[in-house]
Amino acid sequence: MRTVLVASQGHLFIACNAVIIIAMISAEMWLRSSWQYHKQAVAGCGFAVSYLMYFVLEPFVDGAQMTLMMPIMIALVYFDQKLLNILGVFSLMFYTAVYFGLERPLLGKSLLEFLLVECVFIVFVLLAQAVIIRAREVRSHVEQLTKSEQELMVERAISDKLLKVDALTGLYNHKSFHEYLDSLLEQCESNGLRLQLALFDIDSFKQINDTYGHWVGDLVLKELAGKVGGMIAPNDFAARYGGEEFAVIFTDKSFHEALSTAEELRAGIARMEHPYAGGKQITVSIGICDYVAGDGKELLFRKTDRALYIAKHRGKNKVVAAADIPDSESLMSYA
Ligand code: GH3
Ligand code: MG
Ligand code: MG
Repeated sequence: MRTVLVASQGHLFIACNAVIIIAMISAEMWLRSSWQYHKQAVAGCGFAVSYLMYFVLEPFVDGAQMTLMMPIMIALVYFDQKLLNILGVFSLMFYTAVYFGLERPLLGKSLLEFLLVECVFIVFVLLAQAVIIRAREVRSHVEQLTKSEQELMVERAISDKLLKVDALTGLYNHKSFHEYLDSLLEQCESNGLRLQLALFDIDSFKQINDTYGHWVGDLVLKELAGKVGGMIAPNDFAARYGGEEFAVIFTDKSFHEALSTAEELRAGIARMEHPYAGGKQITVSIGICDYVAGDGKELLFRKTDRALYIAKHRGKNKVVAAADIPDSESLMSYA
């Protein structure tokens, strides 16, 4: 019986190989194209190729039925359970047709061999199912891990920010201000970076609290901080230094530029409207000092504080530069 097929093997062999090559090239072109149904196209080609390979091999090789498992492997490559079930059922049905239509009448293959091959198909489908389920579990585990890692990063970023920022005003807090100033002063000493420090103090703020209540005072602080933060350049640094005091570090500017920015800030704040505080004008006094290399942080603060002190003494709502204070004023005390 086997000789029936073997007799025509020359033509069959060449024809089948040609069709296999055509099917593989078609699948490759389909994959490279922008057409849809890639999976279905590959599965269809897999089917065609596996059955053609089977017809080429069958006359020579025992167990050539194993090539019919190729479509099931395609489903495994895509980790697609639905495709696996469909291809599994198709494989069982097709092989049943091949067996009863070809193998049994022409090759005289036993029923036992047929049942064994079908069993191998079923076992392979079940194993592939297990692989797909396990892969899904691993994927969801990895997704879970990635998600919790992202959540952790967000939480860390938020707590980092909370540690650096003042809760009421959203400006940097006292601690981060000093850390930043320390590192900038090192740059001033080693690389000649230009730096100016300005200290802002809200004028007669106690009176606002006493007249309109503490919550109005908080609102004023928030609004003034927003104004300061919004008016400075990206490489300047604003912090809430204390209760109703702000500090601004200007970098990469000439003293003249920093002084005029401070003046703009003072004027901008004075122009703000505060209907909740009786429409009263709220102003700030500012002391500003240009850093002189070698001075150190303490002297910089003393000079700036002194300038602020003089600004208050000159009637508030003023900007005073430390270098402009005449000797006659520098020893004066402010009441
Ligand atoms: P001066 O023009 O001399 O600076 O007068 P002042 O009233 O602003 O100065 P003083 O130091 O007498 O008062 C500062 C007030 O700022 C007292 C304090 O209750 C108030 N203050 C400090 N921190 C806060 C805050 O977070 N919220 C509110 N509402 N008030 C604050
Ligand atoms: Mg004060
Ligand atoms: Mg004040």
